[in-house]
Amino acid sequence: MEKHFRVFATCDIGEAIDLLRKRGYEVEVYPRPEAPPKSFIVEKVRSGIDGLITTLRDQIDGEIFEAGKGRLKVVAQYAVGFDNINRADANRYKIPFTNTAEVLTEATAEFAFFLLGALARKMWTAEHLTRENHWGYWHPYLPFLGDEVTGKTVAVIGTGRIGLAFIKKCVGFDMNVLCYDPAYQNLSFVKTIQEILELRHARGLVKEMPYIKYVSFEDALRQADFVSVHVPLLHKNESNTPTYHLFNDDTLRHMKPTAYLVNTSRGPVVDEVALARALRENWIAGAALDVYETEPLPESSPLRDPAIADRCRLMPHFASAARITRLSTDPDKGMAGRCVQGLIDVLEGNYGSDISKMPYVVNKEAFAK
Ligand code: NAD
Repeated sequence: MEKHFRVFATCDIGEAIDLLRKRGYEVEVYPRPEAPPKSFIVEKVRSGIDGLITTLRDQIDGEIFEAGKGRLKVVAQYAVGFDNINRADANRYKIPFTNTAEVLTEATAEFAFFLLGALARKMWTAEHLTRENHWGYWHPYLPFLGDEVTGKTVAVIGTGRIGLAFIKKCVGFDMNVLCYDPAYQNLSFVKTIQEILELRHARGLVKEMPYIKYVSFEDALRQADFVSVHVPLLHKNESNTPTYHLFNDDTLRHMKPTAYLVNTSRGPVVDEVALARALRENWIAGAALDVYETEPLPESSPLRDPAIADRCRLMPHFASAARITRLSTDPDKGMAGRCVQGLIDVLEGNYGSDISKMPYVVNKEAFAK
């Protein structure tokens, strides 16, 4: 039986759209690569759609839900982070929203690890040297050296899905791991990693046995050679342990002057003015960022200062941007597949139409019976 649901997607998400059309859905996709203006989304929602596919670029709040009153049934977000969706507003209007957790975990974690390595070993600066024909000689320490990653200590801030996957990558590099998470401490995961570290040591794969443990935020920052951030963006009114500007003038000064910061979580977790200053004044050795307070990164950003270019890597919110992760229509492999499955679950009343049982719905609390 064909279903006649109307859906608007604020962005093309590939073949998964055809999957909906094959089911009889009427799907309109915003044709341009940049985000539609909010007024455009409001207009589409008001025109009577059942489902809205969104990305992190769209501000979804009371204005949108009001426009969809009586018709809009689901917002399907193509991302794991949902700080662009006002959860309280969604709950007030009783609109479920879904996300695409898990399928981007490994891709994001590996990207964070690659960034960490590229930053510490100065790969960007070294390639520029070669390309710009400034490679005049081989020399023991000129024109610069990088820092080893193997055997160093990494602080993982936020030990949810991506933080834990990131730790798995660190194990292969014999790193000591300092975990910090005020809300979720996965002690059985830590025990498993400890067992693996012990086995690697016992079998002679590593000389000094690395360790893994939960510590305080301050200890993590003070002891780490690398700090990798894997937290959601949470404002003061959303959490007792908010993450907005978690890295600021004060906390950046806790880090070692030889330490590197990697942020693939959300831009506003780091105060960029403070970070640019920390890099200029050598409070820390370097930073690699995938996310920014304003995206795309404005031309006037202090992070673009040429004086810090050798120690500041800037990526275009790219950590999950791998082929299968982004586009697979399989909900167990790709964000596109999981996004449309979340939408289908709600619209077609899967799980006995019990929204609180649907795996990809985030705001289940609004539907608990
Ligand atoms: P998750 O919810 O599984 O894990 C987040 C963890 O952070 C949780 O364990 C939580 O307890 C912890 N946390 C909350 N407040 C904290 C605080 N103040 N200090 C330390 N830890 C805190 O989420 P996830 O799937 O691991 O994703 C994490 C975030 O990564 C997402 O919310 C998203 O913003 C970001 N992300 C970015 C990209 C990218 O392309 N750059 C891709 C995927 C996810």
